[in-house]
Amino acid sequence: MALRLHDTMTRRLREVIPLEDGHVRVYTCGPTVYARAHVGNFRTFLFEDVLRRWLERRFARVTHVMNLTDVEDKIIRNAVASGHDLDSETAPWIAAFFEDLDTLNIRRAHHYPRATEYIDEMVALIERLDAADVTYRSEDSVYFHISSFPQYGRLSGVRADGLVAGGGGRVDADEYDKDDARDFALWKAAGDEEIGWDTRIGRGRPGWHIECSAMSMALLGESFDIHCGGVDNIFPHHENEIAQSVAATRRPFVQIWCHGAHLNIEGEKMAKSLGNFATVRELVDGGARPSALRYQLIAAAHYRKPLNYDDTLHAATESVDRFADFSARVRAHTPRAGADGEPGAVDTRVSMARDAFAAAMDDDLNLPEAMGAIFTMIRSLNRELDGGALGGATHAQILTLIEEVDDVLGVLPLVERERAGAELTPDEQALLDAREAARAARQWAESDRLRASLAEAGIAVDDTAAGQRWHRF
Ligand code: AMP
Ligand code: ZN
Repeated sequence: MALRLHDTMTRRLREVIPLEDGHVRVYTCGPTVYARAHVGNFRTFLFEDVLRRWLERRFARVTHVMNLTDVEDKIIRNAVASGHDLDSETAPWIAAFFEDLDTLNIRRAHHYPRATEYIDEMVALIERLDAADVTYRSEDSVYFHISSFPQYGRLSGVRADGLVAGGGGRVDADEYDKDDARDFALWKAAGDEEIGWDTRIGRGRPGWHIECSAMSMALLGESFDIHCGGVDNIFPHHENEIAQSVAATRRPFVQIWCHGAHLNIEGEKMAKSLGNFATVRELVDGGARPSALRYQLIAAAHYRKPLNYDDTLHAATESVDRFADFSARVRAHTPRAGADGEPGAVDTRVSMARDAFAAAMDDDLNLPEAMGAIFTMIRSLNRELDGGALGGATHAQILTLIEEVDDVLGVLPLVERERAGAELTPDEQALLDAREAARAARQWAESDRLRASLAEAGIAVDDTAAGQRWHRF
């Protein structure tokens, strides 16, 4: 069986055939670390996690790179306002990002290159573009001449002659309006007082697009297999990456471009700039289970279909419980010798579910359909478990299948964590009750002392309008 993915460039399903035999190289655009990433960002990171996990089942080796954009206009603005250097400005957001990855059981990439650590590679790439005669300078910034790149616009469908209609001809911002293709900044000049690097191409800092070209090529080679992001990355970010990379190397850059649809809230894209976002931490503190959040974001809709946050968490919680309860039930079950006839007999319900799961995943990662096949099997086997014992061979096959499914789904370790942490010990409950009493009596010092004791036990307490809420760190 072959894995096929939808390729944004050709607008078709294409089989994944790694350039290097048995080794798939994947680059995924990472977070801009100026604030905590929101669950919309995590929908994209989770679709990439599912892709990574399924590739690992299909190929001997996967190398996954995700960048951290740790220099950018908003970061610089915040750093200047708070008097931090760049590293101390971004450190808490990078830590928060890794914490959220763990909360959602996202497999770590093999490399998390930071833009600030690849300035030399970016400068070298811009020099190659200078040599290829596709750049120009204006007020010490360096721009890419999109009219020098005839294929510009092929990925996004944005017409390069939008340049004329747009007027002005150049943009310094890294993101700009759809349908308005313009020469973009590769290198932005910086004054002596501003944050920047002194380099052979002058003092300044990189544009966003050059970061991803330089870091992906440094870690994965000039041509690699799969490049992912959310659909908002198609234009201008990925269009510009292609232009820079191909103009510099004269080689194909990426084989397959994969883009995930957005997470919406009340029908609108969740975005920091719109203020309609929630973070993983906020949702979990508000009572959402990480397992359900993970399931919702990866399986409530196919990754190329928009998903509304509002109406899908409840159903996701039920699906996770159905899967986890079935897994626990099978694990606890004692099979009956000889119940399935021949030793080694294959239970067709299990093998059909297994095949259907794999076929749906191979068909552009259709996880909702893949889980449909698993739930059909669960319904039928639950009836059988109600009626008596399963045979040993069937039992073993189900256990293997659950393991294989969760290797992609990744919810069982989260459910285990949640169930283990869902109860307070009597001592912990006593501390929490004492704190409630102290607060009611307005004994703030005592309440703070009890909060510290709870923290020592690994429990964080928030005071909300509805009273104390707690969670384990
Ligand atoms: P940023 O930190 O803004 O560069 O975004 C990081 C990743 O999240 C990018 O791949 C974006 O495409 C993706 N993204 C941003 N907003 C959403 C959203 N509402 N739903 C899904 N993905 C998103
Ligand atoms: Zn990128």
